[in-house]
Amino acid sequence: MHALLSINNLTKNYGTTEALCNFTLEVVEGQVLGILGPNGSGKTTLLSILMGLRYPTSGHFTWFNTPPNHVPTTRIGALIEVPTFYPYLSLYDNMRISALAKNISYNAIFPAIERVGLTPNLKAKVATFSLGMKQRMAIAQALLGNPKIIVLDEPTNGLDPEGIVEVRNLIKELNAGGTSIIVASHNLDEVQRTCTHVAILKKGHLQAFGGVNELLTSAKVAIVEVRNPENLIDFLNSNPTIEVIERVGNSFKLLVNKSEHQVTFITDFQNHGIAVNSFEIRNLNLEELFITLVRK
Ligand code: ADP
Ligand code: MG
Repeated sequence: MHALLSINNLTKNYGTTEALCNFTLEVVEGQVLGILGPNGSGKTTLLSILMGLRYPTSGHFTWFNTPPNHVPTTRIGALIEVPTFYPYLSLYDNMRISALAKNISYNAIFPAIERVGLTPNLKAKVATFSLGMKQRMAIAQALLGNPKIIVLDEPTNGLDPEGIVEVRNLIKELNAGGTSIIVASHNLDEVQRTCTHVAILKKGHLQAFGGVNELLTSAKVAIVEVRNPENLIDFLNSNPTIEVIERVGNSFKLLVNKSEHQVTFITDFQNHGIAVNSFEIRNLNLEELFITLVRK
């Protein structure tokens, strides 16, 4: 597996705002890397630097085997700013304008349109397109010249539910066809559904990075409802490794070690006189991981 991109201690300050701090990570061929973080956490700053639209304050990145902080723009497809297109021109004419701007042969247009499933709409005016179709067109523009990797900044933002599904499926299909993808998102569910890897950002700091499945099996969640919460709280105070993700009344959601089993807990609860109404241990979902990481 080849590293397509190495990022080393990348830092970006806007005046006194630290938008990105010592960000280090490697993207390997075949991955769909989700950059996940709340609004203002530095996602667009990171992707803009990687595409040469902003300069880092310090640190560096290396695409393929090019020199540090060099952006081989014709080898990377990107959708960072809101896509611009001409509504009264056809899809094909819009694609010709992008190809011209990128200095890519018109021959690249048909394969790119085919990959996003818009071949039947080649001659239609873009004004007649749904939001999802417009976004697929923008992704087709990023795919011109068949880059190994594409960079998408919140590609489902502003789409209706149908458009969101279209774009998600497209990301999966592109990846299945061999394209690596870096996608920024603040939507946990989306990242869990479409990404193979995830980097979680909080205020410019990388909180966690890894395979989605590895991260989700790194801990478990216990959901317990009790009649005497005081006793459970006593128990939790004497077990500081157990973290409370959420409490609603007598119902607690706890983050526990991945090796924990239901039976050991039942015994502990009995020993502490905890009256349990219901109890369940299951795998973590990305939302729970995110809440625990971002709250810290
Ligand atoms: P995200 O894409 O995750 O929402 P951004 O990268 O847009 O985050 O922003 C990260 C931080 O940098 C925020 O605090 C934002 O206000 C600040 N920021 C972004 N762009 C600029 C800019 N051009 N000038 C000053 N501050 C900026
Ligand atoms: Mg952004």
